[in-house]
Amino acid sequence: SQPLLVADEVSRSFGPTRALNGASLRVFPGEVLALTGPSGSGKSTLLHCLSGILTPDSGRVAFEGRDLAALTDRERSALRRGAFGFVFQFGQLVPELTCLENVALPLRLDGVRRTRAEQHATELLDRLEVADVAGKRPGQVSGGQGQRVAVARALVTGPRVIFADEPTGALDSHNGAQVMRLLVAAAKERGSAVVLVTHESHIAACADREVALRDGSAVAAEAAR
Ligand code: ADP
Ligand code: ADP
Repeated sequence: SQPLLVADEVSRSFGPTRALNGASLRVFPGEVLALTGPSGSGKSTLLHCLSGILTPDSGRVAFEGRDLAALTDRERSALRRGAFGFVFQFGQLVPELTCLENVALPLRLDGVRRTRAEQHATELLDRLEVADVAGKRPGQVSGGQGQRVAVARALVTGPRVIFADEPTGALDSHNGAQVMRLLVAAAKERGSAVVLVTHESHIAACADREVALRDGSAVAAEAAR
């Protein structure tokens, strides 16, 4: 099949620091890809270029064959909200809202009615095995529960790609692995691809494929496990 996302010889510097140095990769529909490599190797910068949050200095990123740099800011924002979902390590849930309201929020912002949005959110909380925290605020749940809620929120709009930057980085290895397994299973059921940044090998092992970064270049693409 055609790749969903293509990065072609992408370079990006921050002042004198060359964070990405001609990195290339492809992401196929529904695949779970782990970006690995030592701290400072360019993983987050590549993730941000792939998701259109950062513009490369040179090279090209295309989503479904469309060059992200050729889109207007408005089109890029619409793409991020419509086709992409995001999960970060910390601080992504709105503290004043319940977990259910947090998961329903992206649908509400798209104009979906409350009953329908919350029904959908409830199904996802259930799928992520955190139905019991629906009525609680993020401050009242554990780190692992909060990350599952964040995964549910990233999936609720049915994105083509979930971008996850160290999504289990704040969790112990048991909780981290469990969140990762649930993320992968729920994404695969919905046909969403996942691009995951991690420096933990047991988390990368949950992916279909691993791309290692060294000094801003993709150096190794391991075969599917
Ligand atoms: P990784 O995610 O693998 O740890 P990053 O992509 O975060 O790597 O960073 C790659 C390099 O770019 C590092 O040397 C980092 O310090 C630098 N860098 C990343 N983002 C910025 C920024 N916003 N400003 C300055 N330097 C940055
Ligand atoms: P708009 O420009 O329409 O306000 P944003 O660019 O703020 O939209 O947000 C669009 C999506 O991109 C959101 O899902 C948000 O989580 C994500 N996003 C925005 N800024 C960043 C960032 N610095 N790092 C990671 N994700 C981001």
